[in-house]
Amino acid sequence: MNKQLNIFNTLSRKKEKFIPNNKEKVGMYVCGPTVYDFPHIGNARPLVVFDVIYRLLLKLYGKEKITYVRNITDIDDKIIESSKKNNISIDELTNKITKNFQQDCHYLNCLKPNFEPKATEHINEMIEMTQNLLKNNFAYENNKHVYFSVQKFKNYGKLSNKVPEELIAGTRVEISKLKKNPLDFILWKPSKPEEPSWDSPWGKGRPGWHLECSVMSGKFLGKNFDIHGGGLDLVFPHHENEIAQSCCANNTDKFANYWMHNGFVTFNKDKMSKSLGNIVSIKEMRNKINGQVVRLSLLKTHYKQPLDWNENLIRESQNTLNKWYTQFEKIKINDIEDDLLQPLLEDINTPAYISKLHSLYNNASKGDKASKKLFLTGCNLIGLLEEDLDKWQGFKKTKLKIDEKSVKSKILDRENARKKGDYKLADKIRKDLESLGVVIEDKGDKTVWKLK
Ligand SMILES: [Zn+2]
Repeated sequence: MNKQLNIFNTLSRKKEKFIPNNKEKVGMYVCGPTVYDFPHIGNARPLVVFDVIYRLLLKLYGKEKITYVRNITDIDDKIIESSKKNNISIDELTNKITKNFQQDCHYLNCLKPNFEPKATEHINEMIEMTQNLLKNNFAYENNKHVYFSVQKFKNYGKLSNKVPEELIAGTRVEISKLKKNPLDFILWKPSKPEEPSWDSPWGKGRPGWHLECSVMSGKFLGKNFDIHGGGLDLVFPHHENEIAQSCCANNTDKFANYWMHNGFVTFNKDKMSKSLGNIVSIKEMRNKINGQVVRLSLLKTHYKQPLDWNENLIRESQNTLNKWYTQFEKIKINDIEDDLLQPLLEDINTPAYISKLHSLYNNASKGDKASKKLFLTGCNLIGLLEEDLDKWQGFKKTKLKIDEKSVKSKILDRENARKKGDYKLADKIRKDLESLGVVIEDKGDKTVWKLK
């Protein structure tokens, strides 16, 4: 049985065999958060997706052979804006959001990466890379700004599979008279007196966002490493620019060998956006939904596909986990059969993997011991069923307590439907409530309810 992992590479637009540069030293870099606001469900997706990929790599290659790096961007225009808007210092803001981000990761049961470097701790290396790019004529300075000159890099646009003209037309690129070409991007820029700044050969200023990831990935993983990941929205310009900077500064034609990108998240089929007011922070979710439910919900769709976040999805995952948590006591074993692993090896096909878990669960509930073992190990591999049963059940009770009002209003809806003779609707409401763990009983002209 072969344990060959195959992954879809954005760079080649093909599914490829994953062959690390050195299987004793496998490296993965994932773009982390810009710590200016609480992360939302769209940000939770790459956290969970790349956590599953990390867990799979650990399984395939062994713990001491994987280096997983996820940076923290703690200097950026958005951070400066948010600190002004909220009237708190930049340090206070970035510390608060970073701490909250780590709590979110814990809530989602994501393993800690080996390194979580902060941008502000690598400013010197960023200045060095900028100097190097200037020296070799890949960049130019204009009025204290340093820009990367995109036309000097022949492979620009390869990751997005677009020629520069298409890139200019298709996206918002920052317009500035200081640039030679609209696609040129900032490596270093001056700061206003009240903004954070560092001394540099071009005066007091700060680095561009793209430069941060080129420096930090290079520092921890080397000039050429295995996997670089992030959300689909980062392909252009962020990742395209990382490739240009790193290849030119390092004088290489390869940066990361495999590029993996997760799809977008919509909310009830709408695009999530501040103006629509439909952005749910992970922090808000923590009191309402168990992190395991969020995790399973995010893994039910293949990571490359768009994912719609809605009540039904959450309810289904809640029901699945209710069943899974309460049926078997916990055991720890390390073996996972190749057959079960297969969907994950084929470009991290979590929906197919989860459907195998369902059938194992069914066999296990009929008393099949081997299935039970495999089911539990299989859940653990993707970070599920790792919580204590008490914690899981405790959460369930709190959740239902909070929802008491909505249970009552649903019962009222059902009574009204019955009065109108719409028994079909009445029955549907009863079933909906049941799926939430609420059983209703009609006693005389009154309806009472209890938890299952
Ligand atoms: Zn990045």
